[in-house]
Amino acid sequence: MTTTTVKAYGALDATSPLVALTIERREVGPHDVLIDIDYAGICHSDIHTIRGDWGPITYPQVVGHEIVGHVAAVGSAVTRHRVGDLVGVGCQSNSCGECAQCQQGHDQYCLNGNTQTYNSIDPADGTITQGGYSQAVVTNEDYVLAIPAGLDPAKTAPLLCAGITTYSPLRHWNVGPGTRVGVVGMGGLGHMGVKFAAALGADVTVLSRGTAKRDDALDFGAHRYVDTTDREAMRELRGGLDLIINTVSAGIDIRAYLALLDVDGTLVVVGAPAEPFSVPAFSLIPARRSLAGSTTGSITEIQEMLDFCAENGIHPETELVSADQINDAWERVLSADVRYRFVIDTKTL
Ligand code: NAP
Ligand code: ZN
Repeated sequence: MTTTTVKAYGALDATSPLVALTIERREVGPHDVLIDIDYAGICHSDIHTIRGDWGPITYPQVVGHEIVGHVAAVGSAVTRHRVGDLVGVGCQSNSCGECAQCQQGHDQYCLNGNTQTYNSIDPADGTITQGGYSQAVVTNEDYVLAIPAGLDPAKTAPLLCAGITTYSPLRHWNVGPGTRVGVVGMGGLGHMGVKFAAALGADVTVLSRGTAKRDDALDFGAHRYVDTTDREAMRELRGGLDLIINTVSAGIDIRAYLALLDVDGTLVVVGAPAEPFSVPAFSLIPARRSLAGSTTGSITEIQEMLDFCAENGIHPETELVSADQINDAWERVLSADVRYRFVIDTKTL
């Protein structure tokens, strides 16, 4: 078996800064694609994972699940991609293909546990998968996305996680003209949620701390901005929303947001803090409200979202960083000082 050694940037433990290291990529199997990575987005999930917020992990670990690059080689049986194609890889890199969810095309909800792009056991060789803060990756062709013409590659990487994670619930809950959508937290996910909800014709309210992001929110298509530290503004919004997408990476007082839902409204949790929420029964009962969750989106839905972005001229707001700026970028994500997604130029590894 011939593996390939590639440069990467990863963690040796939960707390130290990331360092330059090398990792092995598996041999390109018949159904695999070797991708030379050009760009990798920095998602808050990368930080939660390395810091152990979601439980212990194995180190060294290279994260990154917003990957864009060029096909460098294809396996003998590959039909979907050709050498030179601009492609992407998101959060899931495989799934069982056989369970009821996979059979319905919902690979993100694979009942046997899909293979995540990092920190998962790779069914191909039993190793721990390693993510996109690296020069190259080998991925099964069915989990490699074709990037439509017209999308800027550097600005496409964040669509593979931040984009799909907000697009999917907006589509699942049938957001369209007339739907009153609230987006809580305007970071990487949140700002894409605002752009998608506005493009779908919804009436969009951004809920963010302070007023620093007000102008940006309105530029991204929001109709209203509410400073969540302004108690009076929060009180005025009570009962005024049909769907809330909570993208906050930390624990929040979920009651204050459930109170903003109208009868039959739904609050969808996509932000994944370590701490549990405390939900009083009477935040839900009197208005038949729902509290829901959602993870990423299926491979089919990611392709649909990429096409939607190309057709509607939608892209994330990004700041390109080099490898030696990754640790600073993480600190800035942690202090919500990101406008609105860092993307690593992986050529600098
Ligand atoms: P991000 O760019 O850091 O954005 C998170 C936003 O949350 C911040 O911009 C901030 O918004 C708000 N926030 C942060 N700390 C807060 C605090 N202590 N109190 C109140 N608000 C706070 O992160 P991201 O990459 O968008 O990811 C957001 C969350 O989604 C993370 O937990 C991530 O792991 C999770 N995620 C889930 C999925 C999924 O499949 N469900 C996929 C990707 C990511 P304001 O400054 O506007 O208040
Ligand atoms: Zn992510």
